[in-house]
This record gives sequence, structure tokens and C-alpha cells, in this order.
Amino acid sequence: MNPVLKTIYTPIIVFDGKVQIGKEDGNLELEDLDGSVRDLLNLMDGTRNTVELANEMNIDHADLLEILNDLDEYGLVEDASAVKYTSLNENERERYRSNLNYFSNFSTLKKSRFTYQETFKHTTVALLGLGGFSLTAAALAGMGTGRIIGLDYDSVELSNLNRQFLYCEDDIGKLKTEASSDRLKKINSEIDIEVHNVKIEDAKSLLPVIRESDIVINGIDQPSILSTRWVNFACVKLGKPYILGGIGHTSIILQKYVPGEENGCFDCYLLNSLREAPEFIHQLKAVYGASFQKRNTAFAPNIAMITGLVTNELAKQIAGYDRADNQSSSLEISSLSFERLSETQWKKASGCPTCNGDMNSDEPADLNMILELSKESRV
Ligand SMILES: [Zn+2]
Repeated sequence: MNPVLKTIYTPIIVFDGKVQIGKEDGNLELEDLDGSVRDLLNLMDGTRNTVELANEMNIDHADLLEILNDLDEYGLVEDASAVKYTSLNENERERYRSNLNYFSNFSTLKKSRFTYQETFKHTTVALLGLGGFSLTAAALAGMGTGRIIGLDYDSVELSNLNRQFLYCEDDIGKLKTEASSDRLKKINSEIDIEVHNVKIEDAKSLLPVIRESDIVINGIDQPSILSTRWVNFACVKLGKPYILGGIGHTSIILQKYVPGEENGCFDCYLLNSLREAPEFIHQLKAVYGASFQKRNTAFAPNIAMITGLVTNELAKQIAGYDRADNQSSSLEISSLSFERLSETQWKKASGCPTCNGDMNSDEPADLNMILELSKESRV
């Protein structure tokens, strides 16, 4: 192990017998009356192992390890020798250099920043819909997601070009699957791109793709609610997490389902909502199964924002950092003021036919069954 002070935390400022290291969550000040901390930080340029560092500092090896342990807990150090053990080749380390620097935020002496990128490389993401989420597809490719499976059935239209920047005027009339595949391969030729030109009309047809995926991004929003229930059912059945992004007129919505003992699914969300506010039934019935194509208010800044939120959540789920509070949740943010308009986390609802039902079935329970179940009180 060759400890190195993370480069993202330099420069170091020395004054009044203290060493100050700038971190985003506040400056860290270390007492350094005799200058030994500064000496150690200077020696930790990644070229020395711990024995060499202890010798040059003229301290016991055990004492050095204790100091390193403290610095590790502050998140200041990583292991420069990890580069020898990563499966990323030189070209990949250059391509993903900024990713790797970003992952330094989460690396430790034991877990290198390379492992996060390696995880991306070995992940398969299913992207259901290549319209509004075509930007997400571009981000996934750029980030180095090993395999992307994209589903869509539409062709590129003139009215898509205000926001679906994966496509250009030359693509008008082409299938989105073909146009996106060509473009994604140009962004990153080192990953696998697989596309299926298919219209999703039930949960069953999603099962083969989701089975092969580690995580799902649901970009299908029509028919309203019903399509979410298809994706939800398939993901619960196969134990896969999914992320759903949506836009209102002036808001963006991020929803996620994470498999877990207590984590509720989308049908649990419906059941909970109906039990808490029975009048929700009218709203639900009004939009259930509907198509709002003509009312589409997809505006590029909002699509860019939801792309950021979805991709950020996806990265957290894939790489595994910042998962302290990982449960099914929904978040709506104003795209004008960035105010949080609503935030919900939910557990399993008693009697949920998807979480507790017959897993031999390939389709979610009928909506009427959900409505009936919602009349039963919670256990
Ligand atoms: Zn459920």
C-alpha cells in the first residue's frame, strides 16, 4: 500500500501551527506544531509504502498506521498502488479520468476509486424508452456503463429535436433504436449497445430484458400509471431496482424502487395513497391508462435536469456510494425555484398483490383489485 493524499483535496494551507485542507463540507484543520503533519503529507505522494514512510518520518510503523487510519476516516487518503491491481487499462483510465477523480470522493485506503469504474463496466442497464431519456443514454455511454439495452418503437420526429439531443436532423424518420445505437457507439465504442424495436404493452414482454439487467430506467410514461405498473411488476418479480423520471409542467419527478425486505413497490405506493386519501381514487381513474401525447410540455432544461437526477441516482445505485438511506421514494422538485414540492418514502403496503402475490403470474393485478384492497385497513 502506497498512501497518497487525494489530489482533489490539495492545496494544503499551513499557518499558525496548523495544516488546513479544504473540503467541500468545510475546511479540516490539523494541529501541526512541530511540522510533522506537513512533512508526512508531503512524503505521501504515492511513491512510498508504509514501511518507507515510517522510516523517513522516524516513527514506529504501528504509529504510522494509526495516523493513516485517522486520515482515512477523514476521507483524505487513498492507495496509489491500486493502479497496479485495477482491470482498467491505460486507455480506460484516461477516458474516465474525471470519473475516477469524482470517485475519489468516496475511495478509501481499502476501496480504490478504480473499483467504482470497474463496477460500471460490469453493469447492464435497461433503458425503457429512448425518447426523453435519450440524453440519459448518452450519459450512460459516456460514464462507461458496460452494457446498455435500449427499448423503443418510435421514429425520430422533428418535434423531438427541441430536447432529444442524441438525435439530429439527419435522423428524422429513422427508428430511435437505430439512430440511438449508431450515436451511442460513436460516443463510446468500448461498451455494448443492444436495442430492441418493440412497443411495450404488458409486463410479460419486459421480463427477458429486465432479467438480463442489473438496474432499470423507466422512461415509458404511456399509458399513464399502467405502464409504470408493468415495469414495477416485472422488476419486483425479478428483484431488480428501477428509477423513474418524469416531468410536470414546471416540475421534475424522480421515483425509485429498491428491492428490500421492507421497501414498498409502486402498487404499495398506490395502496398507501388510496388508504391515506380515498379521494385519490378519482384522480387515479381519470388518468389511468391515458395518453397525453399532445399535452407534452417537455422543455430542454427540464429534460436536462431530470436526466441529471436520474443518472445521479443510477450512479449511486450502481457504484454503491451514498446508499445510507436507500428505500423506495418519490421526489418532486420545482424546475423554477428548485424547491422540494413533495417528498415521500414508503414501505410495503399490507396486502399488496405485487409484493405478496402469485409470482407465477406475468402481469400485475387488475386496478379494481387494488381499489378493493385499498378499502381494507392497514394491518
Ligand atoms: Zn408492493
